[in-house]
Amino acid sequence: MPPFFSRNDAGDLQIEQVDASEIVARYNSPTYVYSRAAIESAYRALSEAFGERAHRICYAVKANSNIGILSVLARLGAGFDIVSYGELARVMAAGGDPGRTVFSGVGKSAAEIQGALEAGIGCLNVESEAELRRIAEIASEMQQKAPISLRVNPDVDARTHPYISTGLKDNKFGIAIDDALPLYEWAHAHPALEVTGIDCHIGSQLTDVSPFRDAAERVMALAHRLAERGITLEHLDLGGGLGIRYTDETPPAAADWIEAIRSVVDADPLARELPIWIEPGRFIAGPAGALLTRVEYLKPGEHKSFAIVDAAMNDLMRPALYGSDMAIVPAGQAPGERQPGTWEIVGPICETGDFLGHERAMDLAEGDLLAVLGAGAYGFSMASNYNTRPRPAEVLVDGGTCHEIRRREPLDSLWALEQLPTTD
Ligand SMILES: *Cc1c(COP(=O)(O)O)cnc(C)c1O
Repeated sequence: MPPFFSRNDAGDLQIEQVDASEIVARYNSPTYVYSRAAIESAYRALSEAFGERAHRICYAVKANSNIGILSVLARLGAGFDIVSYGELARVMAAGGDPGRTVFSGVGKSAAEIQGALEAGIGCLNVESEAELRRIAEIASEMQQKAPISLRVNPDVDARTHPYISTGLKDNKFGIAIDDALPLYEWAHAHPALEVTGIDCHIGSQLTDVSPFRDAAERVMALAHRLAERGITLEHLDLGGGLGIRYTDETPPAAADWIEAIRSVVDADPLARELPIWIEPGRFIAGPAGALLTRVEYLKPGEHKSFAIVDAAMNDLMRPALYGSDMAIVPAGQAPGERQPGTWEIVGPICETGDFLGHERAMDLAEGDLLAVLGAGAYGFSMASNYNTRPRPAEVLVDGGTCHEIRRREPLDSLWALEQLPTTD
């Protein structure tokens, strides 16, 4: 069970001091529930592992962008990593500081670049030569100096799912590390650009520190070559990707991730004074959240038995999109006889790919509550309204208190922006 998740005396799931069944009674199902203490403790564990070394933890907003979650992190002093102007607007709505925010992403539009510069963005992480030129042009027009890092592609294999591996030379992200030098020289000489750092991000859900350490080594080697040319940096940004346990993975602990970085940078005289930034999303939000769902129907069969629940792939896309295995545990038992079985846990959507879990051995009854664990990251933030299903409510538990940080979408809001054609 993730930290701050436990079982009460009746054996039912509790999030901090609140029963899952109480949350569903109040907010209905499916509902996302998050533990504030779990978010704070993950953030603090990373921050404390840096010890005296200057650092910044830029929470990757796309993992879970609810402003209630962002405000918890802003209060802890977090920076943010964003991939759209919309995410920057959320950071500001949550009380976060644009000056402590980095803007990543391969396709920033001119309007997004301009908006970020107007807001006083901390750093633009540039992913191509064409983008660097566009930023220089926009900043010149605005008579501003744009703070930039190049996102370099260190060509290390993160050994994760191909869809979430981003640091190999054949994918769309970043600038090949060997091509970075002339671009840095060009940027350094440009009056509207201020070179502030180097950035990399090699993939997501890494379960081993060695690719992370290899990437840090390659980034340091580049920092040395820049220093030789008189280009001094103000930070190194080593990206996110710190993996979590979904079922039986054994990912490194917070201290191990940070130790892997420090083993590279602490010994290096050039890096000793350089602040280290990281961009974890999943590591902070993932273990803190669960999707609560109710069993609607049991449909036992000769070959496969289905437990049809009220959450579906539109609410939680990871299993359908990546084939991810996520732990699904009992969260509250309905009265009545239980049926033992090995169940396909599926949703009501008209797609065969609509499943939350395969072959789960459990005793179930209609009306039971289940919890999909580790759903705090890339859960709600990837949810859609497919099949005209309102997205779930989101509840933040803080000790014994529940905060409804997003209410369930009212049905008519789903077509509120639509219109009947004006002719017959
Ligand atoms: C998605 C992303 C992250 C966060 O990845 P996690 O695996 O959630 O830690 C960090 N930086 C960039 C540039 C990203 O695209």
